[in-house]
Amino acid sequence: MTSTSAEGALDRVNSNSRPSDLRITDMRVAEITGAPFRSALLKIYTNQGIVGLGEVRDGASATYALMLKSRLLGENPCNIDKLFRRIKQFGGHGRQGGGVSAVEIALWDLAGKAYGVPIYQMLGGRFRDRVRCYADTDAEKPSGLETGKRLKERMELGFTFLKMDLGLMQIAHIPGAVVAPAGALEPFRHHAGSMLPRTLDERRQRNAIYDAQNVMHPFTGLHFSDKGLDLLEQYIAEVREVIGPEVPLAIDHVGHISLQDGIRLARRIEKYTPAWLEDVIPWQYAEQYRQLQQSTSVPICTGEDIYLKEGFEPLLKSSISVIHPDLLTTGGILETKKIGDAAQDHGVAMAIHMAESPIAAIAAAHVATATENFLALEYHSVEVDWWDDIQIGLPGPIVKDGFITLTDKPGLGIDDLNDEVLMQHLQPGATGIWQPTDQWDDDHSWDRTWS
Ligand SMILES: [Mg+2]
Repeated sequence: MTSTSAEGALDRVNSNSRPSDLRITDMRVAEITGAPFRSALLKIYTNQGIVGLGEVRDGASATYALMLKSRLLGENPCNIDKLFRRIKQFGGHGRQGGGVSAVEIALWDLAGKAYGVPIYQMLGGRFRDRVRCYADTDAEKPSGLETGKRLKERMELGFTFLKMDLGLMQIAHIPGAVVAPAGALEPFRHHAGSMLPRTLDERRQRNAIYDAQNVMHPFTGLHFSDKGLDLLEQYIAEVREVIGPEVPLAIDHVGHISLQDGIRLARRIEKYTPAWLEDVIPWQYAEQYRQLQQSTSVPICTGEDIYLKEGFEPLLKSSISVIHPDLLTTGGILETKKIGDAAQDHGVAMAIHMAESPIAAIAAAHVATATENFLALEYHSVEVDWWDDIQIGLPGPIVKDGFITLTDKPGLGIDDLNDEVLMQHLQPGATGIWQPTDQWDDDHSWDRTWS
């Protein structure tokens, strides 16, 4: 063998790591806000210098991840499924899935970096060369025409799939639009999570808002009046007037109204051909979802708050049209791939919910690349001009002309995070980033759930 070919052979030897000897040594977080909401970025450190990146879901506590640290120290992060099964009992639906999911994503990033392979390749390879993103648009605009203009701007940026809000909060202030028990609408005008209570009274006030917003749809007593439905129909008609009839337009945030009101609204908007109607009622009511889907031609969608594939099974059997898991709630990358494949068996498409940083977006893009029935991935940060600068290593913009294109780089493909940018966007109360978490090293309890 000539020296040149020997060097060539060495070039192909993995020099990132010795995967069999890789060990988890530390776990730290950076709690940021505004990208577009608040979330905790996660780093899992190893004895070989490579670092795995994850993210705790928007609106969730970093504690959900940090409490897992003592259960992972000393382990080989490449044993992803084994470690996931160890920690999965500490996740739950909604934001409570955030810790397990963040860790699972960081383990995939580490395994990819250790072996020198991108995550989508470890999942079975590509179904597509680029990942279609849909641009979400919050309902800040007073009229359908204004919202339509905003959506049109997104189309001009290259987005080929859109989503907007249509529901209770757009009409709640208009006399005669909503039938409501006195005072029932008031708690929805506040956001419990944005308050930072100091006194006992302020804490009780926050808890009261929290409790009121946790009343599930069938029990609020809120209904759309015919006038309310007229206004909502006019709103989407105006939007369609601006954006045209062809671009897919999904609908979210209908409000805490009943199944019957969801059916009335769905029938009203059928002629505007929504891509889907999302979370009309809590996902737990699979039988009501069956009734909803059977009552309208609008594709019915739910799933962003479901932890683990088992939670999707009753909904898949109830014949909804689209599922919408969030990788930062489901349990992470492999669980979402399994959920997508299970949905495909039932003839159900998978869109992916995502409202966090480039870590979450890229993790989702790997699953979207490797799952056949994928439809579109949410992008919620069109207006966040520092969003791309959070990460180092992927060429920006990450979402270009409405699509994400993954690279051949190992793991997620992100080299590191930009600490300078993160420091400019700390959550209230956070004093720094990647601070020591030694207090979590010895947390232990006998957690077996059977005897
Ligand atoms: Mg949603």
